[in-house]
Amino acid sequence: MSDCIFCKIVSGEIPANKLYEDDEMLAFFDLHPQAPTHFLVIPKKHIKGPGSIEEPDTGLIGRMIKKGGDLAREHGIGSGFRLVINNGADAGQSVFHIHLHVLGGRAMTWPPG
Ligand code: 5GP
Ligand code: ZN
Repeated sequence: MSDCIFCKIVSGEIPANKLYEDDEMLAFFDLHPQAPTHFLVIPKKHIKGPGSIEEPDTGLIGRMIKKGGDLAREHGIGSGFRLVINNGADAGQSVFHIHLHVLGGRAMTWPPG
């Protein structure tokens, strides 16, 4: 997707502060962190959002969630972190390339805003 900012991060056209990369996913720190530790895990493949996951992608999404937890532990927030995936503008999605937010390092409240 040529107009997708996260596809541009995947291709290297836009820089990002990366924590992890393999052949199918990438993790990088959020530009506007909402917690002391806030990073994103994205697939290299363009998937619009959680409402657009197709059956062949389910393994990839599962591995992204596991990687989010592994990275949370490695970055010192393993005892308390929150995973968020927004779908659609009404839910606060602003980048339409699926991404798992991993947030930690502060107390979280419920319900989320
Ligand atoms: P959403 O609101 O779609 O769930 O989350 C998009 C996230 O991407 C936001 O938290 C925003 O700060 C982050 N973001 C948007 N553009 C960039 C960028 O160019 N680089 C990085 N590192 N984060 C970005
Ligand atoms: Zn994309």
